[in-house]
Amino acid sequence: MADSTPSTHAQPAKDSHPSEDVQATADKKLPAAAAPLIVRVAVLSPLRRTFDYLVPEELADSPPQRGCRVSVYFGKRKIIGLVIEQAASSDFALAKLKPIEAVIDIQPLLPEPLFKLFIWAANYYHHPIGDVLFRTLPALLRVGRSLPLPKQKKLWRATPLAIEHGHEMLKKASLYKQRALLDELLKKPLTRQSQILKFYTRGTLQRVQEKGIAELVLIGPEKVDLDNLLREQPLTLNPSQQQAMDAIDCHGFNTWLLDGVTGSGKTEIYLQCIEKIIRYGRQALVLIPEISLTPQTEKRFRDRFNSPVAMLHSGLTDQDRLEAWAQAASGDAPIVLGTRSAVFTPMKNPGIIILDEEHDQSYKQQEGFRYSARDLAVIRAKQENIPIILGSATPSLESLNNCENGRYQHLVLANRAGDAKPPNWTMVDLRSEQVESGVANTTLTAIREAIDNQQQVLVFLNRRGFAPSLLCHYCGFAAECPNCDSRLTVHRRRQGLLCHYCNYKRGLLHWCPSCRGDRMVAAGDGTERSEAWLKECFPDTRIIRVDRDTTRKKNALQEMFDTVDSGAPCILVGTQMLAKGHHFANITLVAVLDADSGLFSADFRAHERLGQLLIQVAGRSGRGDVAGKVILQTHQPDHPLLEILIHQGFNQYAKVLREQRQQSQLPPFSQLTLIRADAAHANNAENFLRLARQCAEAIMPASTQINYLGPLPALMERRNARYRYLLQITGERRSDLNYLLSKLVLELEKLPESRRVRWGVDVDPQEL
Ligand code: ADP
Ligand code: ZN
Repeated sequence: MADSTPSTHAQPAKDSHPSEDVQATADKKLPAAAAPLIVRVAVLSPLRRTFDYLVPEELADSPPQRGCRVSVYFGKRKIIGLVIEQAASSDFALAKLKPIEAVIDIQPLLPEPLFKLFIWAANYYHHPIGDVLFRTLPALLRVGRSLPLPKQKKLWRATPLAIEHGHEMLKKASLYKQRALLDELLKKPLTRQSQILKFYTRGTLQRVQEKGIAELVLIGPEKVDLDNLLREQPLTLNPSQQQAMDAIDCHGFNTWLLDGVTGSGKTEIYLQCIEKIIRYGRQALVLIPEISLTPQTEKRFRDRFNSPVAMLHSGLTDQDRLEAWAQAASGDAPIVLGTRSAVFTPMKNPGIIILDEEHDQSYKQQEGFRYSARDLAVIRAKQENIPIILGSATPSLESLNNCENGRYQHLVLANRAGDAKPPNWTMVDLRSEQVESGVANTTLTAIREAIDNQQQVLVFLNRRGFAPSLLCHYCGFAAECPNCDSRLTVHRRRQGLLCHYCNYKRGLLHWCPSCRGDRMVAAGDGTERSEAWLKECFPDTRIIRVDRDTTRKKNALQEMFDTVDSGAPCILVGTQMLAKGHHFANITLVAVLDADSGLFSADFRAHERLGQLLIQVAGRSGRGDVAGKVILQTHQPDHPLLEILIHQGFNQYAKVLREQRQQSQLPPFSQLTLIRADAAHANNAENFLRLARQCAEAIMPASTQINYLGPLPALMERRNARYRYLLQITGERRSDLNYLLSKLVLELEKLPESRRVRWGVDVDPQEL
């Protein structure tokens, strides 16, 4: 892993013979008498440190500032680094330091508060600063491109001369093209050049310009016109919305947890806060879990405001990402809308951060730099001294706990806005029911009733494919993935078996490889199978399956949503893609085919997740005039947690879970960190973590304040042909853990065993 320590820096100071490298740098005229200026530079490297470089004499008057990119030699490679600070001295022999080759930015690329956020994040997550910086910057900046200038629009208009004499001047029949163009310009006062060039040649445009008939108007980056900010009128807030709105102070730092049931009008509050902020001349950063699943959110922002929205998400080209980033950095975009990594977008005039669906797991990066965008957003708001709103219908236990201990302000919207009523829940006991392809008889009857009444139905099953396993009828053999500890899923449409963890594919098995039996059975239910059965039961009704297999094509999801929004009766069958974001006005029945999968898991967050998922799915129904109905199919109709969730609601459910966590001293009542390691051989991963534990115990022995567990195999030990292990460190106080980890990671970097594994620190892990 650690392969690139530049030798010049690592040399001990006493070695005074100049090496060849230093000889080369001597030609560059190092600063003579004055104290040499040094810059500490972060580069993309797995090491948790910065590297010192000399500022050559010709740059001594304007040394690169903190936050500027520089080009430097790292070993033999020339790479791009970012200046972390200027310094007067170095721990390394000056003669051994290399000079920087070139300065790329005159102005810091990152504003100071954002820069501090990066440093804070690297320290908090114990991740190499270079990796933190370079993996979050837009790709084109990483390779040294400069920020694009604000885009200018080229518009054309008819001159006063043209208005008076244009037609006379162009009356010759052969000038019909120019005449047509003139007519267009007369009709529309300002026309985009790109629009004109769709129908006319550059020559035509040039000729009317030469005749003084048309003139070019260059318009700088779109400016926000505050008199004309709104494209539609805001809704009149209902009393509980108004109360929340009055509470939210748009000046200075404060964290608000906007805890409102689905459809309670949280988004309307976001929009009205953003309006206020824009009128103060500031920008709003809006973070959402996944843009492709929530096209409506983007639309609602664009429908409300006459102002540019900079979008930052994973679906962008590098160029688009760079432009959006620049638009946010320059302040030209008052609204910046993005997913997880957008928390690192620079803004000239930050005014508020809004983070919707704060409980959503996608805010936590699950590999490499394992940060939580939610937690960093709160830190960023604090550093920028601006308010932040975290919104959710099913808040995380962490955030609820932060309300309890006074760190966040709790705002509750208990009812749906407008007239929509809360859904009615019923349980279907799978133990006493006839079930076919995952659908119980009672459920089927309810679906039929809804369809007969011209209504729409959502059937939720969080397993894509036809069946979750392929079994031998005779010997019980199950087809497994060769790379992972998982069974292969049967996919009927693709005629094959697929691993959902590593994407391993193979053809269907018709013979058992173990006993040569000839009856292989697709066991269990996935969305494909339920869809097929529902098609049989309702041949005249539209059945729309929504999962990763059916939404691969661009716009496929949007087209499905459009079909549903058109209102005709239909049955949607899908995975948790349906639980997120989209509002289905006409769905009156939601059927959850399997409520049990989250009830018995070894992950201590499983119950929290289950409750969130069920409430989120249920929230899709009955947004229109008819009250919605939710059917929960379960083998555990008497499970006390399900009872609480259904009869007392998510808040009470969360309260019970919180008490359980407190009793067992699990997060958020203790601080949890994992050291993760994976390797092709299980021994390497396990050994490394055993050493890690010894190192850690030497720094801070186990006590009532700090507790070690492991090395343990991860919940899924083998994945993608690698064995995954973890060492669990629990601390009562964050400061203890932080101290321990900051020492520990430096020691682990030096261990030869660390080169045989991929390892990293996972602070506040979301999965085990
Ligand atoms: P949430 O974000 O909490 O799910 P939304 O803001 O999307 O809720 O609101 C749900 C629905 O209620 C939307 O159709 C919205 O237009 C409507 N709505 C929100 N606030 C009001 C209000 N004050 N008066 C009438 N309708 C409202
Ligand atoms: Zn696999």
